[in-house]
Amino acid sequence: MTFRTRFAPSPTGPLHLGHAYSAILAHDMARARGGDFLLRIEDIDRDRSKPEWEAQIEDDLAWLGLSWETPVLHQSERLAAYAAVLEDLWQRGLVYPCTCTRRDIQMAASAPQEGASPAIGPDGPVYPGTCRAAQVRFAPAPLPREALRLDMCRALDVLARRPDPDALGFVETGGGQPRRVAIGAGHLIAEVGDVVLARRDMGTSYHLSVVLDDAFQGITHVVRGEDLFEATQIHVLLQRLLDLPTPTYHHHRLIRDEKGKRLAKRDDARAIRTYRAEGATPQDIRAMVGL
Ligand code: GLU
Ligand code: ZN
Repeated sequence: MTFRTRFAPSPTGPLHLGHAYSAILAHDMARARGGDFLLRIEDIDRDRSKPEWEAQIEDDLAWLGLSWETPVLHQSERLAAYAAVLEDLWQRGLVYPCTCTRRDIQMAASAPQEGASPAIGPDGPVYPGTCRAAQVRFAPAPLPREALRLDMCRALDVLARRPDPDALGFVETGGGQPRRVAIGAGHLIAEVGDVVLARRDMGTSYHLSVVLDDAFQGITHVVRGEDLFEATQIHVLLQRLLDLPTPTYHHHRLIRDEKGKRLAKRDDARAIRTYRAEGATPQDIRAMVGL
C-alpha cells in the first residue's frame, strides 16, 4: 500500500513553528517512502476561516520547500458527504440532539450530588448526558439543526454486538518502535463521553470531518501532535462504526516556547511569516524545530 499522509491546517491564523514541524515531518516521511503528501484545508468554521490565511499558509509551506498533490481538498466542499453520514448515524440511533450551552454543561457537571469534579475530555468537560436522558426515543425524522452528540454507550454496544468484534485500537509509530495502542471502552465512556459530531448550524465537527476525509482521501498515515492523542481514540471509534479503515498514527512531540508553553495560533511572534520577514531561511526553521 502506498504511504499517503496529509497536513490539515485550519485557515484561521498564521502557520507557526508547531505547524511547520508537523508539516515538514509528514512531508519528509512521505518523500522518504516514495509516498504522497496531501494538503487539506479544514475550513468548516466559516466565521473564522479566511482565504488570506489559506494563501499565507500555502505560501509558507512552499517557501519551506514542501510540495503536495493538487487539487487541494477543502472541507467546506464536503458538507453534503458529512450530512449523509450524520443522517445514517441518526437513523441508527447513535446521535441525539443537544441544546445545552457551555454553562448548562458546567452547571450539570458540577452539581453537588454528582460528587467529584467532572472529568475533562478532549473537547472540554465530559458531557453529563442531560439531553441523552431527555430523549424518549429516536425517530427517523429530519436531522435537527441543534448540535448532535454521539451516544457513546450505544456506539460501544453496537461494536460489542458484532459477530466478530475486534479490539478497538490502532498502530502508533511515534516515539520509536511501532506499537499497538488499545482503546478501552471504560475510558471512552468516563473520560471522553458523548462528543459533539455536528456543531449547531455547522452541520459537522472536527472529529467527523477529519475521519470522513482521511478515508475519502485514502490516508494511510496520520502525522499529528500528541495533543490530539485523545481525539485519535474518538476517530478510531468512528472509523469502526462507519466501517472505514484505520490509518497508522504518528503522534509527534509538541514545539514549545522557551517557557515550555505550547505555541498557540495567536502567537504571532512564532509565525513563519515573522521569521521570514526577519530573514530566516527554511534551514533555520528546520533547525529551530530540531529537524
Ligand atoms: N485542523 C486540525 C488542526 O489544525 C488537523 C489536525 C489533524 O487532524 O491531524 O489541528
Ligand atoms: Zn444537552
